[in-house]
Amino acid sequence: MSDRPFPFLKFPRALPSEVKIPIRVLNFNEIHADFVGGESVDQASRCIDCGNPYCSWGCPLGNRIPQWLKLVKDGRIEDAATLMHETNPLPEICGRVCPHDRLCEGICTLEEGFGAVTIGAIERSVTDEAIKRGWRPPEATSKTDKRVAIVGAGPAGLAAADRLARAGVSADVFDRYEEIGGLLTFGIPSFKLEKDIVLTRRRVLEDQGVRFHLGIEIGRDIAFEKLVEDYDAVFMATGAYTAVDADLPGQDLSGVIVALPFLIANIRHQLGTATSDDVLPDLKGKRVVVLGGGDTAMDCVRTSVRLGAERVTCVYRRDEENMPGSRKEVKNARDEGVIFRFLAQPLAIVGKGVVDGVEIADTELIADGDGRARAEILADSAHTIPADVVILSFGFLASPPDWCASAGIEVGKNGRLKVGGSPRLPLQTAHPKVFAGGDNVRGADLVVRAVLDGREAARSILSQLGVVA
Ligand code: FAD
Ligand code: SF4
Repeated sequence: MSDRPFPFLKFPRALPSEVKIPIRVLNFNEIHADFVGGESVDQASRCIDCGNPYCSWGCPLGNRIPQWLKLVKDGRIEDAATLMHETNPLPEICGRVCPHDRLCEGICTLEEGFGAVTIGAIERSVTDEAIKRGWRPPEATSKTDKRVAIVGAGPAGLAAADRLARAGVSADVFDRYEEIGGLLTFGIPSFKLEKDIVLTRRRVLEDQGVRFHLGIEIGRDIAFEKLVEDYDAVFMATGAYTAVDADLPGQDLSGVIVALPFLIANIRHQLGTATSDDVLPDLKGKRVVVLGGGDTAMDCVRTSVRLGAERVTCVYRRDEENMPGSRKEVKNARDEGVIFRFLAQPLAIVGKGVVDGVEIADTELIADGDGRARAEILADSAHTIPADVVILSFGFLASPPDWCASAGIEVGKNGRLKVGGSPRLPLQTAHPKVFAGGDNVRGADLVVRAVLDGREAARSILSQLGVVA
């Protein structure tokens, strides 16, 4: 026993054990395990219950973090899981993929000087353990005759399905992919989120009565109008899939590939479900250059390392401080040997038929009012770095289905679906029976905010249907 009075001094901030770098780059398994034994309890006991729950404010879902940390500290794992699910339908997933350093943990009172409570790791470990022990989300007290169709089985759609099922409303979820999860399955690589975790959540939701209709594209296999006719309400959670086109000279050269199809092809190869469309380039011994600095770019560099690339370079026009992705992912990439070229703007991809380099110029950052610093190219700084494969990862724009207009759903100039605003309910579209949320409303964003939209859309739908949750 330590004679130190405060648990946050007795137990330093710690993450669950991490697979050693030379081993983890050989496969696609998650790099962190869950906490084991009393580790969750020790880490949860570091919370000082500061009275101002900044962590809850930093969490887009308003998770009741100090309260569930106390339950974990007292060893009440199932009760903690119940409280976690009150605000978060997918805690084991957010606990893994949230950029904690920018959200809950970034503003933990202990962050300055002592190290934040490891909120995300506790959230995932406790939920995994509770589900393993047979814990399930509370069931509906009574069933209603209401039926809701959900288009899209990503985090927004899954969160809505959970809330509707718990209120006794039938939820039918349609997705064009062969498995649930949206980008959780067909985007985010397994080293951040193993696919078994998503499959376990599928079983939990099915036990709650949620029905999945997979391999069905709404608008192609079933008309959207048919859903509107057959169901009491429809929730559109269709994501954002239009890759930003930087229109670089040379981007049609052989050896230039686009981020998301590359990640999806790799995931399908891992799952053993690849088709002839899932073309995976052979990166063994190659020099790979990834253009972009968001989460998707980090996933591409780390996937390239695992596919045996000899040298992987990330080119980003701003500095590390201004990267849009999670700090921990940049650290993970660097630990795995990725080279970062910050303050470098790609000008062209060069080669004769086949890529052999990327022309880049140095940049400097210019403060731009309240917005993000602007990257300006420095004169006479252009030079070429060698590359055998270039991966384009400039982000995504909303991709509104072309049937929106005929279905009476308003789309903004930026392609995002328009929701809410008086007299509509939150997340209600211009069509009174249709609600929308997640990346199709926000543009490419975060899992946790898609979950928030799913939860809040279900709340609006229940209110419209007169169902008391
Ligand atoms: P999606 O997850 O995109 O799901 C939409 C679903 O709708 C898809 O399954 C699609 O097949 C289906 N669909 C679309 N149209 C139809 C139709 N007509 N009929 C049937 N089905 C349809 N966020 C984080 O917080 N942390 C991360 O680490 C992170 N990493 C990321 C890595 C990558 C590579 C990418 C691309 C994104 C990442 N994000 C991350 C962002 C996050 O994944 C998204 O913000 C989130 O998944 C959005 O959820 P959603 O439910 O709105 O949409
Ligand atoms: Fe933190 Fe994300 Fe969990 Fe909220 S959902 S407590 S932001 S890890």
